[in-house]
Amino acid sequence: MQKVSFFKSIHVKLVLIYILLILLALQIIGIYFARELEQNLKSNFRESIFQRVDLMQYSIREEMLKERDESMPTLEESLKTIVMEFSTGLKEVSNGDILEIRVIDNRQRIRATSEVDNQSLIGQRSNNDLVRRAISAETLFENIKLDNKTRNRVWVLASPIRNGVGPDDEIIGVLYIEANIESVFEQVNDINRIFLGGTAVSLVITIFLGILVARTITQPIADMRKQAQAMAKGNYSRKVRVYGTDEIGQLAITFNHLTNRLQEAQSTTEAERRKLDSVLSNMTDGVIATDRKGRIILINDPALELLHISRDITLGRPIASVLGIDQEYSFEDLIHMNDAVNLDFSTADAPYILRANFSVIQKETGFINGLITVLHDITEQEKIEMDRREFVSNVSHELRTPLTTMRSYLEALADGAWKDENIAPTFLNVTQTETERMIRLVNDLLQLSRMDSSDYELNKDIVLFNSFFNRIIDRFEMSKSDKVMFERLFSEASYYVEIDTDKVTQVIDNIISNAIKYSPDGGNIRFGFTAQGDMLKVMISDDGMGIPKENVGRIFERFYRVDRARARSMGGTGLGLAIAREMIEAHGGKIWAESEEGYGTTVFFTLPLNLDDFDEAGEWE
Ligand code: ADP
Repeated sequence: MQKVSFFKSIHVKLVLIYILLILLALQIIGIYFARELEQNLKSNFRESIFQRVDLMQYSIREEMLKERDESMPTLEESLKTIVMEFSTGLKEVSNGDILEIRVIDNRQRIRATSEVDNQSLIGQRSNNDLVRRAISAETLFENIKLDNKTRNRVWVLASPIRNGVGPDDEIIGVLYIEANIESVFEQVNDINRIFLGGTAVSLVITIFLGILVARTITQPIADMRKQAQAMAKGNYSRKVRVYGTDEIGQLAITFNHLTNRLQEAQSTTEAERRKLDSVLSNMTDGVIATDRKGRIILINDPALELLHISRDITLGRPIASVLGIDQEYSFEDLIHMNDAVNLDFSTADAPYILRANFSVIQKETGFINGLITVLHDITEQEKIEMDRREFVSNVSHELRTPLTTMRSYLEALADGAWKDENIAPTFLNVTQTETERMIRLVNDLLQLSRMDSSDYELNKDIVLFNSFFNRIIDRFEMSKSDKVMFERLFSEASYYVEIDTDKVTQVIDNIISNAIKYSPDGGNIRFGFTAQGDMLKVMISDDGMGIPKENVGRIFERFYRVDRARARSMGGTGLGLAIAREMIEAHGGKIWAESEEGYGTTVFFTLPLNLDDFDEAGEWE
């Protein structure tokens, strides 16, 4: 997740807001306070002067209106005494801020000044604008001006002096006062400076407190952010610390609750996914799921095995191309496919057929979300079906041949051959042979069908194989012509096997009769057996005509005969070895043949040894 930059963080924003608010508040307070203070100080300053001004005006008026004689001091002297006196008095109350007091008569002539250095101005005409205006407007004027020399602010007052106390009395002069008001402004400035210092201190404290307060808000938020990041990575063990019960505390509690619920939901989903995974991988059928565009998003292990591909190259590929049917069907076709599709991957050596069933993943609205394909290996099924068809056709063929033969002979007999004493017995003999062959065939078929049924059971006994094998060979030796010679390559060791003697006798009978059947005159037939692990391996070998290499494996198939005509002429049904294989396999053994055309055939079969009675292993090879 992107990291929040320091300046964009809530923490900084909150602190900034605090500072700005405090600044604004202090600014407003400061402006209001400074203005009020200035007004207050100014009015105090004026008040302190005005208190004396009335008295001074009274004294001046009295002096100016007084009848004078020679014994009395002049008006100028008297006025000087008054202004000097008041100047000293005012200086005391206003911290020495009174600069100058002047008395000017109504003809704008300066009659007295408190300034010792300006005594030369007495008698001169005043060119002060304020004085002129006070006389002409007959009212009081005051102003604050800048002293050009000292650069101080000076408060000036021009107050008219009347010859009475009424407002209509005649103006006889003007009292002009100059006072240094700079101290008032300095006082305001001092207080402003103190205020600014206080503002700075309070700002520092605010920043500090702001950081602390902001932390109490941002800390849980940052904690929740970390928690959310951990959750995104699948870590639900982390919990947000709850600092209090305020809104943020409540949020943290809710967040933790949410985490628990998410964890539960996640583990439920995970369990469901695992269940689905195990179902998908443990089922024998292959399952492929696609998205709505037909690209594979899920494929289980059996599907990969069935298709002989790897997951990496399959995911994201179109389903039709993975199944190898993109030439015949588009994804659209597969969506609307109601029937299963057989995928034939058979090679020349081995058949391999898969059946694919398609079902659409559809929302309630009808929107198609994807396609599920279930693959099933039907090779065995197809093989069984093919075998069944072949078997039926073989049986029909095997039965039709003798029946056709019989029909033609019987027709010949019916047409009058029965009267011919020479031909009739031969013809009847043929029909009899064919009937017997059919009976043998039907018996063999019955036997096979019995063995195919599930309730087929072996009637087992423990026998010493040496003597059991010997007895069978002896039987053949007694009945056989001198055409072939028997050779027993038996070992001294005794082998016990638990077998159904009737069935194994039938197997050995069949192999020996085949060996005799396909051996030339003077041929040799060898018998042997030996232990191989926990199995007894039995061998019956002839040096007869042999079987072509490519056919050796097939002689155990039903109705298979290397040379059909020849085998049939020898009375074979083509089922003998097939029955033998069923029987040996029912015993838990195997049967196979090795042969070289023109040099002979060796048939082997194995039977499980009864190890309790096991003697010593013998060798015949
Ligand atoms: P059949 O009744 O025709 O002998 P089997 O199932 O016993 O039927 O044998 C199948 C075929 O295997 C025979 O038709 C024959 O072609 C071949 N076969 C079996 N044993 C031998 C052998 N010892 N030598 C040569 N061919 C053999």
